[in-house]
Amino acid sequence: MRRSRIALVAAAAASALLFSGCAGDAGDDAAEEPTVEEAPEFEEGTTMAELAEAGSITIGTKFDQPLFGLVGPDGVPVGFDVEIGKIIASELGIAPEDIEWVETVSANREPFIENGEVDIVVATYTINDDRKQVVDFAGPYFEAGQSILVLESNEDIQSEEDLVGQPVCSVSGSTPAANLRDIGAEVIETDTYSNCLEPLRSGQAVAVSTDNVILAGLVDQNPGEFKVVGEPFTEEPYGIGLMKGDDEFRDFINDVLEEAYEDGRYEEAWEATAGTVLEFRDPPAVDRY
Ligand code: GLU
Repeated sequence: MRRSRIALVAAAAASALLFSGCAGDAGDDAAEEPTVEEAPEFEEGTTMAELAEAGSITIGTKFDQPLFGLVGPDGVPVGFDVEIGKIIASELGIAPEDIEWVETVSANREPFIENGEVDIVVATYTINDDRKQVVDFAGPYFEAGQSILVLESNEDIQSEEDLVGQPVCSVSGSTPAANLRDIGAEVIETDTYSNCLEPLRSGQAVAVSTDNVILAGLVDQNPGEFKVVGEPFTEEPYGIGLMKGDDEFRDFINDVLEEAYEDGRYEEAWEATAGTVLEFRDPPAVDRY
């Protein structure tokens, strides 16, 4: 059932973090499993045919990012990226239990795709030209923006300008770490965003900076400890990473995304995961570059 939520002004929609009226209850509203396509047919030799024939797919996602990809006590990840992965698998005739989930931290997404360790990556993965040199992207299926997380008590940091010359934690191989270096912050790099929380608590870092929706998940997971400040200052369009040059597979995933936008599966996936904390926004148009 759809929940009531705080109405948010359209003017804020382009940039601000949009909290719904039910923070703190993430995870109590399990996503319905997608209907799995029965014996779908694909042209021989395509990645789709191979995966459908194998009856399984290996998907890289984050394991420590609440709302998008977080491994629960049963070892199975939950979140919006996970639901997007399940929708793609279902169109290949692959049930959720036949998905092999692999943790991809920010720095190993491209190598894992290039080495064939994963078939796709759905992991808060920004599409950009540098990455397009080595992998391809379907999507975008979501637009995030870089923002700033500080201790709840911090009154000094209000925007990215306040990060210049300051120790700020982010993750190796991520776009936010590169952006922070560009603006002149002293970047403390680690492997995952959850590993930035201790440096923030101890004062070794004055802020953590990455995508607004990742930070929103960390705020929600640690009530009363942290807050997000300022407005998002970059554009982070999330794509689904796949082997470079596999145009048929990229077209297929783009078709699946468009269908899911149309028939409501995308919105349902959002509402059951990130939508427990963040307001729904219409997805961006896919870019069939
Ligand atoms: N979206 C950004 C990126 O792909 C930051 C989030 C992340 O590291 O997963 O680099």
